[in-house]
Amino acid sequence: MKLLISKNLGFCVGVNRAYKLALKTAASGEPVYILGYLVHNQKVIDELGSKGVKTIKNLSEIPKSATGYLIISAHGLPPETYAKAEKTGLKIVDTTCPWVKKPQELAKMLVGEGYHVVIVGDKNHSEVIGIVGWAGGKAQVVENVKDLKKVEFHDKMAVLAQTTQSAANFDAVVNALVSKTNELKMYNTICEATNSMQRSAQDTAKRSEIMFVIGDKKSANTKRLKELCEETGAKTYQIESAADLDMSLTKGFDVVGLTAGASTPESVIEEVVNKLKGS
Ligand code: SF4
Repeated sequence: MKLLISKNLGFCVGVNRAYKLALKTAASGEPVYILGYLVHNQKVIDELGSKGVKTIKNLSEIPKSATGYLIISAHGLPPETYAKAEKTGLKIVDTTCPWVKKPQELAKMLVGEGYHVVIVGDKNHSEVIGIVGWAGGKAQVVENVKDLKKVEFHDKMAVLAQTTQSAANFDAVVNALVSKTNELKMYNTICEATNSMQRSAQDTAKRSEIMFVIGDKKSANTKRLKELCEETGAKTYQIESAADLDMSLTKGFDVVGLTAGASTPESVIEEVVNKLKGS
């Protein structure tokens, strides 16, 4: 069996930065809280937890007398939550990825200029919730062209992408939006790391008969990688770790491909590679 490993896989630049900042903060010895998941990967959350970093879902979980640090995840926050975070009195460590800041700033600016802002993405994802917040709650989120039924005609419209969107889905929405406005401004805010990871995953999938995509079920970019690999015709499975890998699935295949989402740590990738290689 031949194993093809995608050229770009695992921690992207933004996740790596957030992870390193979190480890550095944990080493301070002071209490550390993270609002929401630092990244969508349970192994990373558990590792940080073992170093005393507490992941919280809501700022109200922070005791009134608390001291120490509050980390903001790579996915960013709406401005009103950011303001509340500052009021906790904790020292803020903002790991919002620069690629996420871009659509946040654009959304704010475009709403201010009177554009109806459409975001192509998952409305329940923390990154998108943050961008909508920067648009003052006025942006409309669509997942794909099927969702465009609910978009009404607006004189001026602008369209942005969740950073982990696939270029093909974003382009399809942009093309369909043309008929719903007199003026359409398009900003492709898909991040470069996502672009190159998706391209190399598809390239690997095209040369493989069966494909494994490693990543947490909550990870948006991992889900997208799986969809893109499936589009090539390769039988594709998403696994969270080596424990999930059922080796019987590889029986009868000569070429097995592998990729991993941007929030998958190297240690998890290594374990899967070793299991596939039978070592
Ligand atoms: S996937 Fe892109 S936007 Fe998201 S953290 Fe990584 S580099 Fe930043």
